[in-house]
Amino acid sequence: MQRPIFIGHEIFRHSTYGRWHPLRVPRVSTVMDLARALGWLPSEQFITSPRAKPAALINWHTPAYISALQRVQQQQDVTEQDRKRHDIGSVTNPVFPEIFSRPATAAGGSILAGELLKDGGVIYNPPGGTHHGMPDRANGFCYLNDPVLAMLSLRHHGVQRIAYVDIDAHHPDGVEEGFRGDPDCLMISVHEARLWPRTGPIDNDAGGNAFNLPVPRGFNDSEMALVRDALILPKVAAFQPEAIVLLCGADGLEEDPLSHMALSNNAQLDVLRGLMGMAPRLLVLGGGGYNPWSVGRLWAQVWGVLNDLDAPEVLPDAAENVLRALRFDGNRRGKNPPEHWFTTLKDTPREGDVRDEVREAVGILSQRLLPGA
Ligand SMILES: [Zn+2]
Repeated sequence: MQRPIFIGHEIFRHSTYGRWHPLRVPRVSTVMDLARALGWLPSEQFITSPRAKPAALINWHTPAYISALQRVQQQQDVTEQDRKRHDIGSVTNPVFPEIFSRPATAAGGSILAGELLKDGGVIYNPPGGTHHGMPDRANGFCYLNDPVLAMLSLRHHGVQRIAYVDIDAHHPDGVEEGFRGDPDCLMISVHEARLWPRTGPIDNDAGGNAFNLPVPRGFNDSEMALVRDALILPKVAAFQPEAIVLLCGADGLEEDPLSHMALSNNAQLDVLRGLMGMAPRLLVLGGGGYNPWSVGRLWAQVWGVLNDLDAPEVLPDAAENVLRALRFDGNRRGKNPPEHWFTTLKDTPREGDVRDEVREAVGILSQRLLPGA
């Protein structure tokens, strides 16, 4: 069995969406630095992400939109059409220096992953996970939609049946747009109810292949364990996918500034552990996550789990220094970060009551038939 592959790039180290945007914080570089500091990332397991060419991006995005992104990057200015039609240059989707090359690098990694997984394997592309991107417009910090492009790349290389599992705090409206009604694509999303973009209510099955589970504020580890064991794993097992794509957003963790869920990073990692080995191909993507410490600590452990490596109880100095060097300006969580954000990767579990509304919702979805059944 081949060892897992990590796809990354230095472009993510200094690129920022601007001083006040949630994506002002470094994320991918923290994961790469932590993995290297722990001795978890030998060069033979690392691939520098290619930048996707426009010709590859127009497999899903419109040529006009891709041209607009390239032109905006070059001119650092938007036209009325860029704003109105493509939603480029809004507060959410601002103009920044790498507005084309950064998302095209994340997408290039995901497209490459689809190719490399042709004959099986495990790939981690933490820059990926931009699940809100739409064919003709930017949406929710996402200019492109690399999960859709990854799945189209898998299909192009002969992999038909794909299970897409999304445990980001937000509903993957862009991915749903790409694969609605596709009987060979199972989509499962666990997301915070009533959070933007508000598109994933439980009765939205996207034409028969989506299982949308909105969860209440304060969603805890015990509740995620139920969702994993009673919904995610049984549905994926019954579907018998040839590939699993997991979007492992870090914004459902308690410390995240954009959501109101209360998970510890153990909950996300347990979903990953459950999915491993359920299909001959596994692609894990990043996604949301806006607290630089909780993103780095979760996503580094994702790579550890994929390699069967456990984080040490107390981090070695080199890893601790990576976390101590992070800044979270403009957020109260950055003022006096608790010591364990620097010295550990593993959170204390956040178990709690499993609320009736969670049980009921899981019950409704577990009864629903799989696509094509
Ligand atoms: Zn999110």
